[in-house]
Amino acid sequence: MPTFEYTLRRNLREIRRSFRAQQRQALVLVKPSVAATPEVYRCPWCLRDPVYVHYHDNEWGRLCTDDLKLFEFLVLETSQAGLSWLTVLKKRENYRALFAGFDPVKVADFTQADVDRMVLDPGIVRSRRKINAAINNAQVFLGIKREYDRFADYIFTFLPERRPIVNNPARVIEIPANTPYSDALAADLRKRGMQFIGSTICYAHLQAAGFVNDHLVKCSFKHA
Ligand SMILES: [Zn+2]
Repeated sequence: MPTFEYTLRRNLREIRRSFRAQQRQALVLVKPSVAATPEVYRCPWCLRDPVYVHYHDNEWGRLCTDDLKLFEFLVLETSQAGLSWLTVLKKRENYRALFAGFDPVKVADFTQADVDRMVLDPGIVRSRRKINAAINNAQVFLGIKREYDRFADYIFTFLPERRPIVNNPARVIEIPANTPYSDALAADLRKRGMQFIGSTICYAHLQAAGFVNDHLVKCSFKHA
């Protein structure tokens, strides 16, 4: 028969062993995961296609003041009406080839013979009205450049303090489709004769070219 003291000592040893095992387990649990890589978080709207992801990571929300690039976005955005932005993005290189590298000076001089040829090309949105609008909009774009030098400087006149706006949406649903700034920009562009342009397209333009930064607060590319 074990004595009372023996039983007590054995129980104490058991308790200490159990306690040390728990400590070891706790150490394992708090140990950082092996070579933890920083988490990359993206705005969820871009996740369904690699073309969208690339656009999100490298263009959307980054300030762009380059005239050729701004005209490129305008051509693509005005071609989008009724289609998804992703559909147009996937046709971008076809547009670049047909629209003279998105040079507004060259596009403004396109003739109806050019339109007749382009409307047959399956690589772009085959809408005669949209192609004609792009040519017309190139002429308006050049008029604005003559007035403001840079198209970006014209856009800045519609923004408070003439600076980019950084919003901090927590969720995609908080991002608006248009704002008073895009309303005013669209109204002025229409007054100047631009076609296929409305407040929603203007807001998309402001977002794409980084005049408005609408990346979610937790997006890894918000300040990329
Ligand atoms: Zn983002």
